[in-house]
Amino acid sequence: MTRIVVTGGAGFIGSHICERLLAAGHEVLCVDNFFTGRRQNISPMLKNSSFELIRHDVTFPLYIETDQIYNLACPASPVHYQFDPVQTTKTSVHGAINMLGLAKRTKAKILQASTSEVYGDPAIHPQVESYWGNVNPIGPRACYDEGKRCAETLFFDYYRQHKLRIKVVRIFNTYGPRMLPDDGRVVSNFAVQALKGEPITVYGKGDQTRSFCYVDDTVDGIIRLMEAPDDVTGPVNIGNPVETTVYELAEKIIKLAKSSSKIIHKPLPQDDPVRRRPDIAIAKGKLAWEPKVALDDGLERTVQFFRGLLAQ
Ligand code: NAD
Ligand code: UDP
Repeated sequence: MTRIVVTGGAGFIGSHICERLLAAGHEVLCVDNFFTGRRQNISPMLKNSSFELIRHDVTFPLYIETDQIYNLACPASPVHYQFDPVQTTKTSVHGAINMLGLAKRTKAKILQASTSEVYGDPAIHPQVESYWGNVNPIGPRACYDEGKRCAETLFFDYYRQHKLRIKVVRIFNTYGPRMLPDDGRVVSNFAVQALKGEPITVYGKGDQTRSFCYVDDTVDGIIRLMEAPDDVTGPVNIGNPVETTVYELAEKIIKLAKSSSKIIHKPLPQDDPVRRRPDIAIAKGKLAWEPKVALDDGLERTVQFFRGLLAQ
């Protein structure tokens, strides 16, 4: 049995990772300050004697024993990470230092949840891991983007300097059950708006693109990276290469929700990336991973989830 720490384990992706690790027979220690995490996400796991929860902010040191660390603590939605931008940078940077320190003391293998945001508004398309990115260092997204970039720097310096076993995954837009209905991300916003019959808020013309990966696929890719041989450090892109405009996404969700909602346009937020699509050749080659869930299927399951949530 492996003892595994999951920071941000009460959040959207983190709670799915905890579940998968428990099902595989591991001992899971979920570390979360509940900024965007929810008790409901983990409450069924609390009955499992292999699951433990610590309310803790990763910007402070943590002294526990562990064999592996998944470091996911960090709000991911622009609305939440821009709410307290100084805390967002601290979470990524101090959080990485504290978790790397824990990994160094315990000799644990450690994985960082990085992001496609390290590519900023990308000049290279699709995005390959060797691309250094195009990030505005002083804009409203910088607390998240630069925080994550600095976390990657720390991971690779601990790898070179202290010989830590590190893994860095660059996650592209992920969606699915347990997203917060009010977290401001596009899939949750559109699904909730469509189900309530409210206008669908497309920012700008809606011709910006994203590539949406269903959470089960993302989690599978992340766990494969952790379990890959030590020389597979990443960074590795994990995302679905099927690219969709935001407008097309709105139309799909209206159809799936059988909604009468109309599309309205709102101003495009500053520094909103124009396009995003992962090149997943490394994930395919090194992890034998590629997404399995088609966008329509994943959206259907997500709309069902929000339907259930709104009916409560
Ligand atoms: P989320 O907001 O649902 O989860 C983040 C979790 O971290 C929450 O449970 C929150 O309470 C916790 N947290 C935040 N600050 C903390 C702190 N200082 N100490 C302890 N816990 C803290 O977001 P998510 O979508 O599940 O994202 C998880 C990770 O994956 C994040 O690191 C995010 O940057 C990364 N990521 C997500 C996406 C995506 O599309 N969902 C894309 C790229 C990267
Ligand atoms: N978006 C939108 N309407 C919304 C929420 C988001 O048009 O109600 C757009 C947003 O401007 C961006 C895309 O959808 O172009 C994805 O936004 P999200 O916040 O989900 O993720 P990110 O910008 O971090 O990829």
